[in-house]
Amino acid sequence: MNVNKLSSIAPAKTSLKGLSLAELEAFVATLNEPKYRAAQIFRRLYQHRAESFDDMTELPIALRQKLSEQADIGSLPAVKVQHSADGTKKFLFQLQDGREIETVLIPSETVGDDGEPKRVTLCVSTQVGCPLNCKFCATASLKLKRNLTTGEIVDQFLQAQKFSDKPITNLVFMGMGEPMLNYDNVMGAVDIFTHPDADLLSPKRITISTAGIVEGIKRMADEQRSIKLALSLHASTNGLRTRLMPINKKWDLQALGDALEYYYRKTRQPVTYEYILFEGLNDSQQDAERLARITRRVPSKVNVIPFHPIGFTNPHGFGADLKPTTPEQFQAFIGLLRELDVTVMIRSSSGKDIHAACGQLALSHGE
Ligand code: SAH
Repeated sequence: MNVNKLSSIAPAKTSLKGLSLAELEAFVATLNEPKYRAAQIFRRLYQHRAESFDDMTELPIALRQKLSEQADIGSLPAVKVQHSADGTKKFLFQLQDGREIETVLIPSETVGDDGEPKRVTLCVSTQVGCPLNCKFCATASLKLKRNLTTGEIVDQFLQAQKFSDKPITNLVFMGMGEPMLNYDNVMGAVDIFTHPDADLLSPKRITISTAGIVEGIKRMADEQRSIKLALSLHASTNGLRTRLMPINKKWDLQALGDALEYYYRKTRQPVTYEYILFEGLNDSQQDAERLARITRRVPSKVNVIPFHPIGFTNPHGFGADLKPTTPEQFQAFIGLLRELDVTVMIRSSSGKDIHAACGQLALSHGE
């Protein structure tokens, strides 16, 4: 990145969080500092979670001074933290322009011998709002305000970590927004999370979930990304999928199947299908059979998700009529899939009491 670009992003001060190592090197060059300073700053930001330039004690005082004049660390204040009875925490972060996003920290339900959760998963947002208008999702009520920057994505992790005694072990791009519509900034964040000098996460513990943006799936395949891919499917016919998810008009089940096959051929990585069960809409035996057929195209598993009601966003039309499947039908559907040799997982509804479960992120509605 050239210096002009850096200064045009932030004419006053350059925000260092979210810059790649190469971009940090370009920045330190503008300060007439040697290249290795960039790696020192990078490590201080991510390994040591420095909150201020004074925390970067291995840097000479004069450089720390220069940095505080020309740069900032760019931390997101958590303006609200809600605690669920199940241990889930939901954060409301304020961005520099005053907009807000939500992030969810979920200790896993499975515990180790010590009684502590084995996994701590962070669900991060990638956009302020979302343009896709899926009928079952609370975030749709916000529409799209803007993409998050790489720094804003990375900082959700650094800030949330402060509220967890245990290290965050897994990261899912399943908060507000469609990650594939903010591809560059999301992958910029992935590159930082997985950089050996940041030492935050392994790519295998990062999952990107998409409503089905074929361009993004193909790009991930071409770039041989080793993070995991999940597709929000939710229907086994185009008719229903288009009603639930308008993006299906652009890329339908056939296009998605082709894209996943392309992805698998390039990466040899299995994919996960997400499938919310709606009463009377997609929970029949025929649906299970069609779903099984769809998932046979490439090695995969299905994550079945209970529908988390979003009445608090006052949906109208089709969205207002959606209901969760009964617990009996939920179990029966899973049984059918297993009989059809589909690998099935059940997504937990952690944080439902504070509107922190999948699809419930809608800022102030979530009181
Ligand atoms: N835009 C991306 C990621 C955000 S949504 C995507 O569509 O995949 C994360 C997951 O929550 C998706 O699988 C989404 O379909 C699901 N979801 C959305 N609303 C939901 C709701 N009300 N109940 C349960 N899951 C929901």
